[in-house]
Amino acid sequence: MRTIYPKMLVDSPTVIEISFLATHKIDTVFIDVDNTLLAPRERLSSEELKTWINLIKAQGIRVFLVSNNTSKRISDLSRDLDVEGLPRAYKPFVFRIKRFIRKHRVDTSTCCFIGDQLFTDMWAAYRLGMMGIMVRQISPKDYFYTRWIRKIEQWVLRQGGLR
Ligand SMILES: [Mg+2]
Repeated sequence: MRTIYPKMLVDSPTVIEISFLATHKIDTVFIDVDNTLLAPRERLSSEELKTWINLIKAQGIRVFLVSNNTSKRISDLSRDLDVEGLPRAYKPFVFRIKRFIRKHRVDTSTCCFIGDQLFTDMWAAYRLGMMGIMVRQISPKDYFYTRWIRKIEQWVLRQGGLR
């Protein structure tokens, strides 16, 4: 059954193992930025994160950043990690992501979507038919508009036996 609930909930994207991605025949990984890879207003990625991204890329798995944040922030991180990014993605809407997917000839059945929010990342993943992997937010700090929705997300996750 298809559901908005993530396939799994992890503490950090870097604990997601290559073998897990291989088992599920994942060849493309979409990753949210704020509170998934970087704390809000943090600029640079950690060495641990770079190592993990490089490990994935070395397996021939494509990595794309997908964020609702601005171009500047996403392009800085894209350069830092040497991956392509889609800023202002308007998640959970998928029109921008779908256009990006067509451009990059991505097969959504072999994708996973990693993010920290149920109602943006996991919902977009669900709509796109991708496997969703949810990470616990890096920082308790959120952009203002995110703060209130977290509480509802927590409740929904508990109903699903997660968290
Ligand atoms: Mg996020």
